[in-house]
Amino acid sequence: MSERKILFEWVMQPGSGKAIELLAGQILRIEQVEGLQCVDFNCFNLHDYKEFMHCGRTRTVHGFHPTKGSFLWSAPPRERALLYILEDTVGRNDVLFPRCSAYVYESAYGFDAHTNCHDIQAEAQREYGLTPDDVHDSFNLFMCTEVTLDGRATITRQESRAGDYVDLLALVDVLAVPNVCGADVMRTSNFALKPIRLTVFEATDAEIAATPKTPILKSQRTPIDFRNPTIKATRALVRDPNYVAEFVNFPLRVEDVAVALTADEYEMLERVRLPVYGADSGAALRDILFTWWEERFLGAAESGAPAIGEAE
Ligand SMILES: [Zn+2]
Repeated sequence: MSERKILFEWVMQPGSGKAIELLAGQILRIEQVEGLQCVDFNCFNLHDYKEFMHCGRTRTVHGFHPTKGSFLWSAPPRERALLYILEDTVGRNDVLFPRCSAYVYESAYGFDAHTNCHDIQAEAQREYGLTPDDVHDSFNLFMCTEVTLDGRATITRQESRAGDYVDLLALVDVLAVPNVCGADVMRTSNFALKPIRLTVFEATDAEIAATPKTPILKSQRTPIDFRNPTIKATRALVRDPNYVAEFVNFPLRVEDVAVALTADEYEMLERVRLPVYGADSGAALRDILFTWWEERFLGAAESGAPAIGEAE
């Protein structure tokens, strides 16, 4: 297959969103109709909604602005790549900010009824039986954000134009839920709401072949590995009188291990140990090893190359 086949087309009007079944090997294109519109995006494993996209994991691996070459990951303990950003014509997206909510507009602006991403997401995913509590942190497409030197996240105006798009390739079957962000009183979408075009394609064989592989590791657990695999059907939290704690790696046992170092390595160890770790040579050694690991692997992740736990 060398040309993409179109499977579905939809235009989301302001104030709305759309839940779409996106099967592995299919691409969702999220495209500007007029430009300058932020799109919030949630997604769930289509066959197990308890696995959902996790902005925290995505942020850790790909930084605050995931773009072409980044994966969208699910939450621990599943922690696997759900989607791959195949193309991004603008390159400005955000995983710092949560979805906007009714509370934000009432508390900050005094509007007791205002279009907002949380309520739009909730209504769109209701088509699949999900509740407002199931909406999770969103991947915010075309949203321009920055972090100030004193650590605050801020939103700046965006510059997307008609025809700009992001292509998301599904690596597993997901329920994808994009929506037109409801923020017309912030810079998010330059103070006006515009429609967004959605297109689902079948990926070509070449596109699938070119996607980096993310093999499943032992630490990526599914309900089959859980001590409690059953989803609670009631809302109140009630203590299990038969509970006995079985933490992983507990209690921890600490013992000294001899490590042979060259004179240079010992000198390096002392440079780190003396001012920071005092008598704890083990912590100083781990610090040195971590610095080496960080330089070797995190630098690769930043460039969009496969990160830890991924291979060619
Ligand atoms: Zn919003």
